[in-house]
Amino acid sequence: MKKNLKDYNIDDLKEIFVALDEKAYRAEQVFNWIYKENVTNIDDMTNLSLDLREKLNNEFSLHNFNISKKLESKDGTKKYLFDLLDGNAIETVLMEYKHGFSICVSSQIGCKMGCKFCASTGIPFIRNLTPGEIVEQILAVERDTGIKISNIVFMGIGEPLDNYDNVIKAIRIINNPKGLNIGARHISISTSGIVPNIYRLAEENIQCTLSISLHSADNKKRSEMMPVNNAYNIGELIKACKDYINMTNRRISFEYALAKDDNDNLDDAKKLVKLLKGMLCHVNLIPINKIENGKYSKSTNENIIRFRDFLNDNGIVATIRRELGSDIDAACGQLRRQNLK
Ligand code: SF4
Repeated sequence: MKKNLKDYNIDDLKEIFVALDEKAYRAEQVFNWIYKENVTNIDDMTNLSLDLREKLNNEFSLHNFNISKKLESKDGTKKYLFDLLDGNAIETVLMEYKHGFSICVSSQIGCKMGCKFCASTGIPFIRNLTPGEIVEQILAVERDTGIKISNIVFMGIGEPLDNYDNVIKAIRIINNPKGLNIGARHISISTSGIVPNIYRLAEENIQCTLSISLHSADNKKRSEMMPVNNAYNIGELIKACKDYINMTNRRISFEYALAKDDNDNLDDAKKLVKLLKGMLCHVNLIPINKIENGKYSKSTNENIIRFRDFLNDNGIVATIRRELGSDIDAACGQLRRQNLK
């Protein structure tokens, strides 16, 4: 398979052009064609000589995705299943908010984490996505819709901090003013809690938002929901979060999916208040999306509101995430799982 030009940042491309006996400034021209013009073919890069286009075509391609399936919700949310060149498939979700269009990207094909409430569980981990496959999710959606995406969330299939180097490289391309030029504050990474890589991220000097999938303040309950808790328990995770806040001065967002009769009672809320008290943080409450044969089901509206109010009354800022795309099963992994049947 030819190499993917989207896997490279400008510095990599400069090296490639110098090795091809070409001027280094060609790198910026190619970057511009990919990220500003969103071309799908090297032959469309018309300010490169025919000879250079031929040289590039011999070794590289743009690895554009094919849309294998697209579902559209009544609320405008669009869910894509993309075919990759090696025959695998990934999901990407486009959502519209008041502040603009947000895209939820996948970082891996499958996931090793095995969270029990997640539709990706049961889909074996196959491989990491490359930086080019991460950025192509954004480019492919922009080509399909003609819109400009303003926010990126790494909350699709995969654990982004388990594909650390490729995700960071993709973020730097997304953030680069010569690339997709999306501000770091509009990029959010969600992790199940890979503690050593939370420390690495703190040192990257990227102003993105870190979201932690917490879901319980109780080690026993959290381990049942999220096996990663057996590797990095709540104490280690919260210590890493506090260190992250001290190192970056950035607020952390904690995701808490409320499951009926499991983690949604007042006792759970009290434990959460005790755990997060005094931290620079925000809690995002998510009505859980029930998955087929899954143990967890959605909490009642009454319990969700009671949980939120208890947190807010006790000094923890908490909001309930608006449910988007519920009529098209927008939870990560669901479309791909259906297609595997
Ligand atoms: S919730 Fe995220 S980390 Fe957990 S299994 Fe699903 S994709 Fe993986």
